[in-house]
Amino acid sequence: MKIDLKNLTIEKAHQDFKSGKYSCRELAGEYLKVIKEKNPEINAYLEIYDDVLKQADIAQEMFKNGVASELTGIPFAIKDIILIKGKISSAGSKILENYKASYDATVIKDLKKVGAVFLGRTNMDEFAMGSSTQTSAYGVTRNPIDLSRVPGGSSGGSAAALAGGMALAALGTETCGSVREPSAFCGLVGLRSTYGAISRQGVIPMGNSLDQVGPFGKNVRDAEIIFNFLSRYDKEDSTSVPDNLRNHVLGGKKIGVPWHLFKEGVDSEVQENFKQSLGKFKKAGYEIVDIELPYCKYSLAVYYIIMPAEVSTNLARFDGIRYGYSVKGESLMDVYKKSRGGGFGKEARRRILLGTYVLSHGYYDAYYNKALNVREKIREEIFNAFKKVDYILTPTVPVLPFKLGEKLDDPVAMYLCDIFSAPANLTGVPSIALPSGTSKDGLPFSIQFMAPYFCESSLFEIGKRFEAIK
Ligand code: GLN
Repeated sequence: MKIDLKNLTIEKAHQDFKSGKYSCRELAGEYLKVIKEKNPEINAYLEIYDDVLKQADIAQEMFKNGVASELTGIPFAIKDIILIKGKISSAGSKILENYKASYDATVIKDLKKVGAVFLGRTNMDEFAMGSSTQTSAYGVTRNPIDLSRVPGGSSGGSAAALAGGMALAALGTETCGSVREPSAFCGLVGLRSTYGAISRQGVIPMGNSLDQVGPFGKNVRDAEIIFNFLSRYDKEDSTSVPDNLRNHVLGGKKIGVPWHLFKEGVDSEVQENFKQSLGKFKKAGYEIVDIELPYCKYSLAVYYIIMPAEVSTNLARFDGIRYGYSVKGESLMDVYKKSRGGGFGKEARRRILLGTYVLSHGYYDAYYNKALNVREKIREEIFNAFKKVDYILTPTVPVLPFKLGEKLDDPVAMYLCDIFSAPANLTGVPSIALPSGTSKDGLPFSIQFMAPYFCESSLFEIGKRFEAIK
C-alpha cells in the first residue's frame, strides 16, 4: 500500500497503526525505500541500520499485546552523537570512525522501551561544531528543499532526513542552535529544551554546561510528543533536574522583542518576514513590547570562549590510546600528536587550540573567567526580562539557508549564524524554532521564541497558535 508520507505525523501514524491501516513494518519499509532513493544525493544518513524491519516487528508485537504507546513503531533518525549499544557512533569524526557504543544513551533506552524504530545515524558537523554540516569527516549533507544549499548544522543530517521524507521523527543535540538552526533551514519545528530537562547520559559531550538533546518535528505537536516523552529526571546525569523542580507555568500574552539586537547583520528578507509574523501575533491578540537586553549582545563572544574551553577539555580523552583512531609513533607524545593531528578535522583543532588558550594560566582571568561573569549577567538579564514578558521573540537565524561551500573560509561569518541561539544556551532557558513562511525563492523563514525555565508547554501553545493563524 502507498502511504502518504508527506502529510504523515506521529499522531496520524499512531492512529493508523491502531486501526490496522498499515503495520509498523510497512511504514518502516516505505521509509527505507525513500532513503534508498534520496540518501545517496542528500547524505542525511551515514548508516542505515540492518535491523530496521526487525525493530518494526517488535513494535508491532506491542500493538498486538495492547502495550503500544504514541511512539511505538515511529521511525526515527538519530544524530551520530547519541549512543546506541552495539552501533557505531562517530560524532561525524574520523577519530571515532569505528567506535561502537557499549551502552545505550538514556534517551535511546527510553525510546527502545516503547518500541520506537531507529532507521539509522545521521550526518553532523564534527563533534557538533558548525552551522552547516560541512565539517563532517563524511561529506556534506544537502538541504532537501534546495540541493545546492546547506541544511544547517550541526544536526543537519537529522533535519534533512525529516524534511526529505526519510524519517517521521528525528533527534538532534544543541550546544548552541544545532537543532533550531537546521530546523529553520529545513522548514521544521525544533526545540532546545531547558538545560537539564532531557538526559545527556550517553550523548558524546561537546560543551557540558550547554548541551541538550532536542527533537525535530514536522509540526509543533510532533516535537511536543517527543519532548514530553523524553523529558524526565535521570539519576545517571548529574545535570538532570529533579521532577519537583520542574514547574510548568502556562504563558500569558506578552511578547518581548529585543529590536536593538538585530538592527544590523540580519538579511532584509528575514527582517521583513519577522515583522509580518509580529503582525500576525498582534492580530491574534498578543501584546508586543520592546525590551532591552544590553548584555545579550555579548552572547556570541561569551559562547565562543566558554564552548571551546569545554570542547578542549572534552576532546582531551581522544588520545589515540583509549579510543578510536590511533597512529603508531616513536614515543607516547608522538602517538598523541599523530593520532590527534590526523583524527581531528580543522574546525575541531581550531576549537581545541582556542579552548586551551583561554584556559591557560596567563589568559584564564582575561577570557574564561570574564566570560563566566558575563554569562551570569546575561542570565540575570533574561531572568528579569521574564518578569515583564512571557516570551522573547527573535528570528531564529539572521540569514536564509546559504549555498554549499559558502562561509567555509570565514569561521566568524559561520559563527554569526548562532547570534540569536546563544542566549538560550548560555542561560539554559527553552527555545523553539517555528517555520514562518517561505521566501520568493522558496526558502524557509523561521522565528524563535524563548520562555522561562521549564515553560516548554507555553512554547508549544504559542507555536500551535502560530500554526493556526499562518
Ligand atoms: N553553530 C554552533 C557551533 O558551531 C553549533 C553548536 C551546537 O549546537 N552543537 O558551535
